Amino acid sequence: MGKLHVITYGCQMNEYDSERVAGLLKERSWELTERESEADLILINTCAIREKAEEKVFSKLGELRALKARKPELIVGVMGCMAQLHQGAILKKAPGVELVFGSPAIAKVGDLVEQVRRERRPVLETGEAPLVKITAKPAGVSRLKSYVTVMEGCEKRCTFCVVPVTRGRQRSHAPTAILTEIRGLAAEGCREVTLLGQTVEMYGRDLTPATDLAALLEQVNEVEGIERIRFTTSNPFNFTTRLIHAIRDLPKVCEWVHLPLQSGSNVVLARMHRGYTRERYQELIAELQAAVPDVALSTDIIVGFPGETEADFAQTLDVVEQVGYDNVFVYRYSPRPGTPAATMAEQIPLAVKAERNSRLLEVAGRIAAARSRRLLGRTVDVLVDGRSRKNAAELQGRTRCNRVVNLEAHEAVSVGDVLPTRITEVLPHSLRGMFASLPEETACLSK
Ligand code: SAM
Repeated sequence: MGKLHVITYGCQMNEYDSERVAGLLKERSWELTERESEADLILINTCAIREKAEEKVFSKLGELRALKARKPELIVGVMGCMAQLHQGAILKKAPGVELVFGSPAIAKVGDLVEQVRRERRPVLETGEAPLVKITAKPAGVSRLKSYVTVMEGCEKRCTFCVVPVTRGRQRSHAPTAILTEIRGLAAEGCREVTLLGQTVEMYGRDLTPATDLAALLEQVNEVEGIERIRFTTSNPFNFTTRLIHAIRDLPKVCEWVHLPLQSGSNVVLARMHRGYTRERYQELIAELQAAVPDVALSTDIIVGFPGETEADFAQTLDVVEQVGYDNVFVYRYSPRPGTPAATMAEQIPLAVKAERNSRLLEVAGRIAAARSRRLLGRTVDVLVDGRSRKNAAELQGRTRCNRVVNLEAHEAVSVGDVLPTRITEVLPHSLRGMFASLPEETACLSK
């Protein structure tokens, strides 16, 4: 049919969706290319979570105009969250775009592209559609680590967030469909899966019969070949003791939890409509830390939410100090169209957001470094996942708590091995280690 180039912005779910789209188009004989200059079809999978993410997309679309001028038959399409949020406005703002479709329409991508080719006029598809588990993948993609979307949408209505608009109602995929996908991945050599959902802790509550994430984790834990399981993103509001026990008891579930705090101030949390207080969040963390010793925690925090005072921000710093996160993702509040927070009084000046962003990153960096130092001299399991990025003669892997470890290569070690490794050096963004034993001596999977 022709050559397809996919550009992906945003979260893991977008990466997953882009791969599904490439897989579906492969079935219509579209061949994936890394080079946009040789593409006949370019799809941009977009993120709408912050204005900056959107600016990147419009700037890319501007760049592509020159390519389209040289190659008028090129089809440029915009998919994903921005497509769902801005719909027809994208066609007006970015002339040359001929296809706009939201995530519910991914299953129809082959027909939509065909329609553009046939009619050569812009096609817009942003309606709701039945939930379909798409497992198509582009040729040659078999990964050691894979994402698996287990649910779509979000119904939390946090006042800052566009996700309920861009990804629609919360809908879970059936456990059988998810397990079939994961067994297929394992058969192709995948050893680690990350289960994805916007509020993944809510998995299964909408199914009939209802189930939950803990039950799904139990089933995934049984899949032969899979060594590690992670899940993200969780909202603290519904994070249950049952789920904490699943992390504690299931050997393949990593002791790594991403639990967005957003703010350490109760006043701000209430205005964000998060549904928990700072005290409840800390209680949950204490329960997790007691049940899963040495659990690695990461979080998302928004700085400069409307009305956030210096005292509110100090409360956030305080929670960050107390929890001791391995990683903190800091976001400057960005007003999003149609969200309640965008029209709240007391929007915070950019300079204040920038200053709070730097202060928080500084505190978070110091804490993360201290957390890393605890690993020095310890022997931990490392999943070898490829060559080191900085030195191709070396291997790279990850600990169960998701830290990068660089290692000297050894002829007995292959990508995909899980090996006990002694941590010999702690660097700002990575660790160095030495294999403590080699494959033939090792029985994997210890928690
Ligand atoms: N579903 C997750 C939850 O409720 O915790 C959020 C997933 S969102 C894709 C990732 C992060 O983006 C959020 O946790 C939040 O910190 C940040 N974010 C969302 N909306 C934002 C906004 N309007 N401005 C700045 N950051 C935002």
